[in-house]
Amino acid sequence: MITVYDTTLRDGMQGEGMSLSVDEKVRVAHALDSLGVHLIEAGFPASNPKEEALFDVLSRESFEAAEIAAFGMTRRRDRAAEHDEGLRLLADSFAPVCTLVGKTWSLHLEKVTNVDPEENLRMIADSVGFLVARGKRVIYDAEHFFDGYRADPDYALRCLRAAAEAGAENVTLCDTNGSSLPAQVAEATARVVAEVRAEVGIHTHDDSGCGVANSLVAVEAGATLVQGTMNGYGERCGNANLVTIVPTLELKMGRECIGRDRLRRLTEVAHLVDELCNVTPNANQPYVGANAFAHKGGMHVAGVNRDARTFEHVDPAEVGADRRVLVSELSGKGTVLARADVDGETAARVVDRVKELEHSGYQFEAADGSFDLLIRKETGEYEPLFRLESWRAIVEKRADGRVETEATIKIWVDGERYVRTAEGNGPVNALDKALREAIGERYPHLRDIQLVNFKVRILDERKGTGAVTRVLLDASDGTDTWGAIGVSENIIEASWEALVDSLEAGMLPGRSQHQRARAATTP
Ligand SMILES: [Zn+2]
Repeated sequence: MITVYDTTLRDGMQGEGMSLSVDEKVRVAHALDSLGVHLIEAGFPASNPKEEALFDVLSRESFEAAEIAAFGMTRRRDRAAEHDEGLRLLADSFAPVCTLVGKTWSLHLEKVTNVDPEENLRMIADSVGFLVARGKRVIYDAEHFFDGYRADPDYALRCLRAAAEAGAENVTLCDTNGSSLPAQVAEATARVVAEVRAEVGIHTHDDSGCGVANSLVAVEAGATLVQGTMNGYGERCGNANLVTIVPTLELKMGRECIGRDRLRRLTEVAHLVDELCNVTPNANQPYVGANAFAHKGGMHVAGVNRDARTFEHVDPAEVGADRRVLVSELSGKGTVLARADVDGETAARVVDRVKELEHSGYQFEAADGSFDLLIRKETGEYEPLFRLESWRAIVEKRADGRVETEATIKIWVDGERYVRTAEGNGPVNALDKALREAIGERYPHLRDIQLVNFKVRILDERKGTGAVTRVLLDASDGTDTWGAIGVSENIIEASWEALVDSLEAGMLPGRSQHQRARAATTP
């Protein structure tokens, strides 16, 4: 059994642009709990009013699988543990587990902290002993362990023994600078497992691109606790990505951590945390990215249809992901049949229509939402959200340099006419606002749909007809992300087309299931 230790709320917040309110952190904690994470490191108790509020709220929440760990440092060199303010806050915190970070690398003692190596050992032992005596379970985070071990293995091991002998239940080996390679981590971890009487954990960073690999080899060498962050958030190149480590341990190494049932929530939880952290999901992320199980090309798709193992490393259902079959000019009827539940004749009509549209600049690989609508148009199941009478967008630049944008739309829904005007930071934004204003009350789910990505490309591939603009829009309801496309010689018209598709695709019946699943995991 491998203990999964998540540090998204502490180390993950060191990543550029990461900032969460107390409420959002609590929602992340519940998402992690629903995934079956064992330990959630919440940060320093009371290092500032925000952390104080977080610990206060967390102390009153209940979790199914997870326990909260508070994070702090070993005592300062000039004072006793019981007089160290940070340690007293840890001792007083409700968290049953305290993670203490301390020095292990003589270079740091010499150049950064100016602490005598023997005094550092006493600092480790005193601090761990103080918290253990107060009833805490202590994890000792050995900062820069692998650098320290390469420079002076005996001293690095003495630091760990000092923690273990003082009662730490776990010593976690940290590759704080992300400098280490798998063979180095494997060798050092095996020695610690053999020589130190405590459970061993691993905490790595991805600076050498080995964050996940280093965590996995440490487990092979005997580590039983893995620290990391959701989606690999963290400073510089990020922390070890738990979203990659956990399924690899479960599905490929036969090491149980969260269990196969909870593993099926992985994709949903990874995307939910991205949404809460305002991060655009990485489409190429292993196991959970939109492209992780995407197939393109006739032979490839035919192979997957016959036996998915031909082109997939694991069954996407194991991690709660969907297989995606990309639609492109290269592939034929088989691709459409794999994506949609239609008969052969309809599939042939869809392929003809796709080819026609691709010829005029459309591309459906990244526009699955528009493609789903296209299929419905061919099967006669398509129902527009509204009927357009007209829209108009005005952009006005003033003498003082300000640019003002305003859009007016006139549409019909069920025989009723809606005229709405809105201002925006650009014509597409203004049109989006006016449209939502008009139909938002009839379709309340629209409020959950956000436009998350907007890409514009000028196509001048086709001679004689002049340049056209292709707009790709990604929309999300927090769990699911889908793409929509618009093509026109006019950029605003192309954007409008993509905008309407993205909203109509978001309202398709299949998406509401995701909506319910999401509601179940968020309090
Ligand atoms: Zn770290």
